[in-house]
Amino acid sequence: MFVGHFGAALLAKKATPRLSLGTLFVACQWLDLVWPVLVLAGVEHVRVEPGVAKFNPFAFDDYPWSHSLGMTVVWALAAGGVALLWKRTMTEAVVLGGLVMSHWVLDYVTHVPDLPLWFGHGPKVGLGLWQSVWATIAVELAIFGSGIFAFARTTTAKTPRSRWRFWCLIFFLTLVYLASAFGPQPSADTPAAAIAGPALFMWLLVFWAWWADRRNVVLDAREPTGV
Ligand SMILES: [Zn+2]
Repeated sequence: MFVGHFGAALLAKKATPRLSLGTLFVACQWLDLVWPVLVLAGVEHVRVEPGVAKFNPFAFDDYPWSHSLGMTVVWALAAGGVALLWKRTMTEAVVLGGLVMSHWVLDYVTHVPDLPLWFGHGPKVGLGLWQSVWATIAVELAIFGSGIFAFARTTTAKTPRSRWRFWCLIFFLTLVYLASAFGPQPSADTPAAAIAGPALFMWLLVFWAWWADRRNVVLDAREPTGV
């Protein structure tokens, strides 16, 4: 899943208006932020296997640190703990921890059974929405669209420029998503580094989201959004 994760972060803004969209992006995409780093370090492994799923040809051979259920719980508790120390409110801790967890749940719905529960050779799970391109797109765009709608009703831009930053981000995410769905697929001999390397751009999206939300005002409270 790609834009569906960002949809979850956009939805979360209403519950935690003091948190920047950049922080919410870190939480919803934490597993995919650490994954390319671990693949490039040789800790986790991925390869291209044409036909493994209709939506994309990536075979996630092992990624327990970034994507096992057990480690996701650990990451989620850590995110909640950091939020509690930093913001000192339970709402922000629960939302940030919940967003980290939401990544695994949404991946569970979309991935073919490749998500480990823990380290080692245990069972792997996934409901396999990726076996239908159109169902994947419909579900993801529905979550993403709801998130955009909710975010737009929660905040307003102080200046036309900051409104543009937000809508350019939304347009860019949609474009990247549709290109990944309908663009050329990588060949079987693509090295892992060529798959994981471009995924590092996710870190840039975090900064873009922070930048886009920087001058927004929360509609209810009329107070600037936080960090
Ligand atoms: Zn993921």
